[in-house]
Amino acid sequence: MIEAKNLTKRYGPRIAVDDLSFTVASGRITGFLGPNGAGKSTTMRLLLGLDRPDGGTATIAGRRYRDLRQPLRVAGALLDAKAVHSGRSVHNHLLALAHTQGIAATRIAEVLDLVGLRDVARTRAGNLSLGMGQRLGIAAALLGDPQVLILDEPLNGLDPEGIVWVRTLLQQLAAEGRTVLLSSHLMNEMAVTAEHLVIIGRGRLIADCSVTEFVERH
Ligand code: ADP
Ligand code: ADP
Repeated sequence: MIEAKNLTKRYGPRIAVDDLSFTVASGRITGFLGPNGAGKSTTMRLLLGLDRPDGGTATIAGRRYRDLRQPLRVAGALLDAKAVHSGRSVHNHLLALAHTQGIAATRIAEVLDLVGLRDVARTRAGNLSLGMGQRLGIAAALLGDPQVLILDEPLNGLDPEGIVWVRTLLQQLAAEGRTVLLSSHLMNEMAVTAEHLVIIGRGRLIADCSVTEFVERH
């Protein structure tokens, strides 16, 4: 569903992503694991067409992301939850996003229920706790009911209840056949959330295997 083929990205002399190839299957959660600075965010930006690779190709459903006519309906992304500094209420923040994406306003109550934020719909988005802000970012990614979800560190800053909530939600979305790729630098977190792992270090592939295989080997 998602394919990175010999992806390479340089920032000046520094190689952030180095000849990286992997595929992400639908219907399961793939954990994208690696230490800080390994190149996870850069890879996700390349997959989403937000940056241009210096080499290789990134495709979602067989096509370059920017070729897709209604990209947000195909892939929903959470890249930087801290970016939600909105003075708008939670509801109005999502309403503005829905409007620019041509999504019906009735979808907002649905995504708020999915992430468990219905009770704070009238709270200012900028006043949410980090964990609630993270859930709002996930709600925004879900607005277009995407087949592919690409989430950068979605469990960061969540309290234990929030982690269980988001994990259960992502597992449910994957069980419905969606493709879920989420990054983390925490192995333990990925071992209980994901089914498959793509592990990178210094921009290069280290392992591409099921969680079960990984645990047996280590
Ligand atoms: P991760 O998400 O795994 O923490 P990143 O993809 O953010 O890793 O970063 C990979 C490497 O690329 C790091 O060395 C980082 O400093 C560098 N990098 C990322 N974005 C930029 C940028 N816009 N300009 C220069 N260097 C960058
Ligand atoms: P423009 O900025 O002129 O619209 P693009 O940024 O869409 O051009 O693409 C410029 C070049 O970058 C393309 O010819 C293509 O080779 C490469 N490119 C952009 N995105 C991708 C991608 N996801 N995978 C592979 N190559 C890409």
